[in-house]
Amino acid sequence: MKNSRSSIMRPFGLPDSVSTPVATPLSPSVVYGSANPDELDAQYEGKLQGYTYSREGHPNADVVAKHLDAMEDADGGVVVGSGMAAVSCVLMGLLQSGDHVIGADQLYGRSLRLMKEDLPRLGISTTLANPSNIDAVRAAIRPETKLVLVEVVSNPTLAVADIKGLARLCSDRGILLAVDNTFTTPRAFKPFDYGADIVIHSVTKLLAGHSDVMLGYAVAKDPALNERMRVFSVTTGMTPSPFDCWLAERGMLSFELRFDRAEETAKKLADHLAGCPGVKRVIYPTREDHPDQMRALELLEGRGCNMVSFELNGGRDAANAFARAAEGLSFAPTLGDVGTTLSHPASSSHRALSAENRALLGLSEGFFRVSVGLEDPDVLCGIFAEAVSAAT
Ligand SMILES: *Cc1c(COP(=O)(O)O)cnc(C)c1O
Repeated sequence: MKNSRSSIMRPFGLPDSVSTPVATPLSPSVVYGSANPDELDAQYEGKLQGYTYSREGHPNADVVAKHLDAMEDADGGVVVGSGMAAVSCVLMGLLQSGDHVIGADQLYGRSLRLMKEDLPRLGISTTLANPSNIDAVRAAIRPETKLVLVEVVSNPTLAVADIKGLARLCSDRGILLAVDNTFTTPRAFKPFDYGADIVIHSVTKLLAGHSDVMLGYAVAKDPALNERMRVFSVTTGMTPSPFDCWLAERGMLSFELRFDRAEETAKKLADHLAGCPGVKRVIYPTREDHPDQMRALELLEGRGCNMVSFELNGGRDAANAFARAAEGLSFAPTLGDVGTTLSHPASSSHRALSAENRALLGLSEGFFRVSVGLEDPDVLCGIFAEAVSAAT
């Protein structure tokens, strides 16, 4: 025997250092060793801070949670593997068979599917209602209604929910109000300041911001609800990968700058598109011609978002020609990337609807949703103007 120590024996440990890294280290370890059974006991009892098995929690997820908690003025939020995991954590981790939940009628596609298909299968009944119309939501309430789920600005028609009215209604009736704040982000809207009980994010979008991470976050005001969501997320294996958390933190450090830039450009692009011949209408929440402008100005306190929707004259042929001519812009079903992306609801998110139902929502073949990125605003407006004129 030449070696007294096998090369696979662990741990060699990290080198001693009196200085600390500025950037968060990546901790991919799945397991964490403790000194002895007494210390492990103390860890499980919460008397000592430590990690055990990364599905139960790991340093990179905790760092991301701290950032997000600070942004939402919250405490104890849960970071999970995707935005949909966060939505599931709220709906499936907090509700039970026999409960009833009300969802906004224009929720993110997969949230709608969860409401329509999966919750009813588990004995949780659901109703969809227009969140801009308090009377419609009130009419949907039943004695067993436990939760209302809404988005502040709807996809893709950018209607603004009556969050103040909903918060009053929900608090009067002892119903939880959950707000998916993905489109508006904590930079433009703080759901807890307006009476929400739970905030949800797809961190995948603007917060991480580079289309290279999937991550979600959910947080409640009530610590007991956070604990239930945390336990549910661990049991069902929603834990995010340390690498995704590490990348998300890197993205979040520039989130405010990116949001401010994209929001400013979006306002400019909306006004620019409104002046382009060939554009039938432009939708941006704070524009004068938006039906919910007053509500948008009040809730967003003068801020906006990076999303602009518009309708071209000329149907599918014009849409194809526009996407072809829009050089340098990705035609891709996401949002919040550093680059501007285009989505066409009639062929993607809303393709399952009949043409009549799409028409009811105003989603013609010429309708595009734009997620504005960080390009030079004048260059971007130029690209759109040229593509619109090539298409129409
Ligand atoms: C993308 C999105 C989700 C889902 O997030 P993923 O990270 O893709 O799972 C939920 N809500 C909204 C509003 C979204 O835009």
